[in-house]
Amino acid sequence: MPLLVMKFGGTSVADLARIENAAKKVQKEVERGYDVIVIVSAMSGETNKLVGFVEGTSKLYDAREYDAVVASGENVTAGLMALRLQEMGVPARSWQGWQVPIQTTAQHGSARFVDIPRANIDAKFKEGFKVAVVAGFQGVSPEGRITTLGRGGSDTTAVAFAAAFGAERCDIYTDVDGVYTTDPRVSSKARKLEKIAFEEMLELASLGAKVLQTRSVELAMRYKVRLRVLSSFEDTDETSGTLVCDEEEIMESKVVSGVAFSREEAKITLFTIEDRPGVASAIFGPLADAGVNVDMIVQNISEKDYDDAHPGAVTDMTFSCPINQVDRARKAMEDAKAAGKIGYDELIVDTDVAKVSVVGIGMRSHAGVAAKMFNALSAENINIKVISTSEIKISVLIDRKYMELAVQALHDAFDLDKA
Ligand code: ASP
Ligand code: MG
Repeated sequence: MPLLVMKFGGTSVADLARIENAAKKVQKEVERGYDVIVIVSAMSGETNKLVGFVEGTSKLYDAREYDAVVASGENVTAGLMALRLQEMGVPARSWQGWQVPIQTTAQHGSARFVDIPRANIDAKFKEGFKVAVVAGFQGVSPEGRITTLGRGGSDTTAVAFAAAFGAERCDIYTDVDGVYTTDPRVSSKARKLEKIAFEEMLELASLGAKVLQTRSVELAMRYKVRLRVLSSFEDTDETSGTLVCDEEEIMESKVVSGVAFSREEAKITLFTIEDRPGVASAIFGPLADAGVNVDMIVQNISEKDYDDAHPGAVTDMTFSCPINQVDRARKAMEDAKAAGKIGYDELIVDTDVAKVSVVGIGMRSHAGVAAKMFNALSAENINIKVISTSEIKISVLIDRKYMELAVQALHDAFDLDKA
């Protein structure tokens, strides 16, 4: 039997009517001849409520009990989905993580998959069941305790099952109808993509396009799971939504596929640091130890390069990090300075910045993308503060007040409204 994984997010199972709507989509695939593994999220808002219960009970909670409470939202929807399918005449059975068993590490709150043995679910399919409804977001630790995978983790559950069971495809049903060239709330010209490569989706997901959990895309890329993002609120068929797939499946890709942005950025500059071996390590070591996720890094060229003849060379170092980690970053730097591990004259924080990025696998084989990007920004008189590049991405840090303008200008400059 060919097998499909279908995942329904929180808004797609928000009430009984929506669960019925989702069940009808499952029934359709069963009628087409598929065995189906359905992965469900908790009803929307439910996980937040459960997290609130935990935090309202215990400030420094035991992470094992956090998981025990927070995983329960998915159990409810899994049972209800199985019941609804049975009512419709579709043989279905629900599975909690430990029943599969979905084996994970013991990192409570952010556990990782170790193994998903197929035997139990395969045996049920052999008995004649057509659908296995699995609670997303959860698993079981080596000690036999309930674990959760981190917020948004049901996407990752879905991909992991698709990989483990060799599914033909993994369909992620959600409240948007696909992946867009940029956020339609920022540019009215945003266009839905028919296909996008794993690498591109990974960049977009980690840049804050919140359609898929980043880890789910990493996993899909590693195991070459074809992923489809589509709406549970529309009539859908095999061509709906956006397919996230290997770049070989994309015939002619554009140079740039999307424009991503993030408002939650801050820029920190250390002025007048020594320019000698070991200084970068003395700065970024303490930042890493403090759990600061450094993103872009720029070190100025010093007036006189370091060498034996110029032991006193100095330079400046700038880096960006999430805005909510600024205090931690500042403290790590001040502590390192007080301990005599680094020296700087001044530390300046700029929290009014945004990051805007263009992403596309076509960049690998095309020159001039950076020039075009900078040209479009300069035409709008937008000043660039920091630049960083990777093989398939160019990012700039700009004043946050120009973010929307920059996104729109770049969307136009790369003709993203045209297929
Ligand atoms: N219910 C979990 C959350 O809200 C997992 C998920 O929906 O993906 O984070
Ligand atoms: Mg989600």
